[in-house]
Amino acid sequence: MRSIEMVDLKAQYEKMGGEIDNAIKEVLLSTKFIKGPQVAKFEGELKEYLGVNHVVSCGNGTDALQIALMALGLKEGDEVITTNFTFIATAEVVALLGLKPVFVDVDPLNYNISVDAVRKAVTPRTKAIIPVHLFGQCAPMEDLLEIAEEYNLFIIEDAAQAMGTDYLFANGSVKKAGTIGHIGTTSFFPSKNLSCCGDGGVMLTNDESLAKEMRSIANHGSTVKYYNDKVGVNSRLDTLQAAILSVKLKYLEEHNRARKEVADFYDNAFREIKGAIIPEREKYSTHTFHQYTIRVKDGKRDSLQKYLKDAAIPSMVYYPVTMHSQKAYSYLGYHETDFPVSSALCKEVLSLPIHPEMDEEQLEYIAATLLKYFL
Ligand SMILES: *Cc1c(COP(=O)(O)O)cnc(C)c1O
Repeated sequence: MRSIEMVDLKAQYEKMGGEIDNAIKEVLLSTKFIKGPQVAKFEGELKEYLGVNHVVSCGNGTDALQIALMALGLKEGDEVITTNFTFIATAEVVALLGLKPVFVDVDPLNYNISVDAVRKAVTPRTKAIIPVHLFGQCAPMEDLLEIAEEYNLFIIEDAAQAMGTDYLFANGSVKKAGTIGHIGTTSFFPSKNLSCCGDGGVMLTNDESLAKEMRSIANHGSTVKYYNDKVGVNSRLDTLQAAILSVKLKYLEEHNRARKEVADFYDNAFREIKGAIIPEREKYSTHTFHQYTIRVKDGKRDSLQKYLKDAAIPSMVYYPVTMHSQKAYSYLGYHETDFPVSSALCKEVLSLPIHPEMDEEQLEYIAATLLKYFL
C-alpha cells in the first residue's frame, strides 16, 4: 500500500507533472517573473470559473484578507466580527490594522460561525463580518447577508478552504464561495484544494471600485508607477505560481469530486460509531472537504490520534486552540469559558487524511483501523 498522507502532493505531481514542467519552463524562458502575462491569464480563468466580476491576485491568503480590510477604509477601533474557530490569519489581519477583532462562537455540527452569536455581537462600532467557510462548507451566508444589510456592515468571506464550493440560496440561485459578500479572499497554499507550489492568493469582488482599490493597495498604493496615492503593500502572485495555477485549475472540479467520494466513503464507514460524530452536511452548501473532521467523544481524541499514528495513519487537530485563548489576543480580555462550543471542539476534533489521490486500499485500511478502535 502506498503510504498514507494528509495531502499527497507528490502523487498529484506524478499525475500532472509534465504539464506543470512545461508551464514553468515557459516562464523561465520568458524571464517575466513579476507580472508576466500568465498572471492576468490565470486571473481571467478564475474569474470565469467563479462567475465573479473581478479577481485581484496577491502574495498569499493572509495578504488577501489584509488588503480586503484595508480597501474598506475602516478606522482604528472599528469592530470586526469573526469566528472563534479558524486559522489565525483571519483574526491576525484585523488586529494588525488596529481594528478590534470580536470573536463569536460556532455551530456545534458544522463548525461554522453561529448566526445567533453574530447578531448578539453587533454594536454601534461594528463595521464588518468575516465568516470563514471552514473545512470546505459555506458559512450560513444568507442569514449573515441579512444581518449585514440590517446594520450596514461589510462582509469579507474567507474562502481559503472552500475553493469551488457552491452556496445554494433559498430562491434557487447558486453562487461560488467567495463571490457572495462584498469581498472574498482565498489562498493557494500547497495544502488547499486549489494550490500552487509556494504561496499565492486572490481577492474576489463584484464591485469595480473595490477591485481598483485592492489592486492599487497590493501595488504600493499606486496605479501609475512611482506615484503613490496611499500607503499600500507589496503583494504579488509570482508569474511561476500563476502558470502552475492555470494548470491545476483545470483539475479542480475533478479533485473536489474525488474529495467528496472519500468523504462519502468515510460517512458510510463511520456513521454508526457511537464514540464519534461525522461532519454535518448543510442543505444550503455543497462541501468540497478541504478537511474531513470528526468529533471524538469521551475524551478519547488524543488516544485515537496516537492509535492511528501507530498504524501509520496521519491525522491532524484543526484547531487545538481557539482565537480567544491565544496568548496574542489575551489583551482583548475574553474569559476561558466565553465560547463553550469552540472550546469543546478544540478538545474533540480530528481531521482524517483526505485528498484526490487516495485509493480504495488506503480507505479500506483507514476505515477498518478506526472501526477497530471503537469496538
Ligand atoms: C490557509 C488559510 C489562510 C491563509 O492563507 P495563507 O496563504 O497561508 O496566508 C487564511 N484563512 C484560512 C481559513 C486558511 O485556512
